[in-house]
Amino acid sequence: MTTFGPTADCACLKGREYRPEEVVPAFADLRNECAALREVLAPDDSWSSIIADAENPNAAAHRSYLLLALQRGCLDRVTRPVHRFLMRSHEVRSDLTNQYRQDLPERWFKGDEVERHQRFRRLFGKIVELQVAQWLTDLGWTVTDLEALGHRCDIAARSPQESSFSIEVKYLGQTDDDFRLVLDSMRGIRSSGWFGPYAARVPRRDGLTPWNSRSTSIRLPLSS
Ligand SMILES: [Zn+2]
Repeated sequence: MTTFGPTADCACLKGREYRPEEVVPAFADLRNECAALREVLAPDDSWSSIIADAENPNAAAHRSYLLLALQRGCLDRVTRPVHRFLMRSHEVRSDLTNQYRQDLPERWFKGDEVERHQRFRRLFGKIVELQVAQWLTDLGWTVTDLEALGHRCDIAARSPQESSFSIEVKYLGQTDDDFRLVLDSMRGIRSSGWFGPYAARVPRRDGLTPWNSRSTSIRLPLSS
């Protein structure tokens, strides 16, 4: 059984919001203080690509999820599980696998919009594993091992009732077809299709999705 925690205190855990123009310099300062950012989530090559992407808006309005989380005051929802499960004090655990060292940094800013969408979905699947482990811990479960540390399943954990579970986490995200419909809409292209149930949002009274209010081409299957 692997032991985790306690979570070391770190500047990244003190959530506050930033104006858009403040985010990159604020993240740079935070990264200097936080090894979870500097060594796991945004090491040097990742950080340089995050900065380059921030300077080049794209048709899908894709943005670094780390910068966006910092701007919105919720970066700790990403960094807290990294601190808790992948670090000891302020050092990255030596048993963090090479695969996860490759997979966890934000490096999805390549290719066209659909390729970037696919790359981000793969990255976020790994982040979500850690968030689920944190969520279980917050509910009183004891996480006993992680695939990130070489275990055979995503999460091994013991419930408050002392039952042991092996847990596989699947991040669904938005399908490529759903994403293409959104992208067409953002480009002002009329297109139509059915959204998968996981992409469905609460419809507005006019049947349009909130993020697509200028187009009349996309309607949710469940709208009345
Ligand atoms: Zn930190």
